[in-house]
Amino acid sequence: MSPSDTNTNSAKPKGYWGKRLALMLAFIAFAPLLAPQFLLFPYAKRFGDTIVYSESEITPAFAKALAQSDKLLRASAIYGDDYDHVIVLTNGGWRWKWLAFGASGAFALNRPLTTNMVFNRTDIAAGKIYNGKAMGGERSLVSVIAHERTHALIRQHFGFIQSALFPGWKVEGYADYIAQESSLSADDVTKLKASGQDHPALIYYQGRQDVARLLAKNGGSVDKLFASG
Ligand SMILES: [Zn+2]
Repeated sequence: MSPSDTNTNSAKPKGYWGKRLALMLAFIAFAPLLAPQFLLFPYAKRFGDTIVYSESEITPAFAKALAQSDKLLRASAIYGDDYDHVIVLTNGGWRWKWLAFGASGAFALNRPLTTNMVFNRTDIAAGKIYNGKAMGGERSLVSVIAHERTHALIRQHFGFIQSALFPGWKVEGYADYIAQESSLSADDVTKLKASGQDHPALIYYQGRQDVARLLAKNGGSVDKLFASG
């Protein structure tokens, strides 16, 4: 038997294949977070600089929502075209749970260092996104796209590290200010306050109001808004 016939498997140190398998599984689990298209979305479409992957058919209603959202975004004083360009629409099922990775109660999420935004249960025809909550569980598709893209505008304008240090109420408040929509209605907030209940969207609601007040006072300067404590 020549040396080349040696079974190479037996030459590997103990645990080699186990480690390789673990690495492979980790890659399979995490790769879609960076490149959601690995999850084989049945529909994909390009709209200008935006690529959409979707679990349901991408009808012309989506193009309309995207255009409306773009209009909202362009109203931002820190507008630039370096926003998130990949939109991933799910039905709130396994693909969402995989991609949301522990944040499945959200309407959508954007992944810093990628240009991906992933959306929870989306109804393109109705123009709505649902997060499954009884209160504050529904938002317009237009506003959620604008909200998520505003996060990218903030990161782009102030830098990745600086924007990560801004208080949550200000960042979320500004994103909803640009989106011109809150998850909670004024009625919802009255009910929550009367019963002393907390809600994860309260900080967004209050933040949007505070941001609007501060911008009105400082002449609409986003730099001054984020510079103040
Ligand atoms: Zn947000």
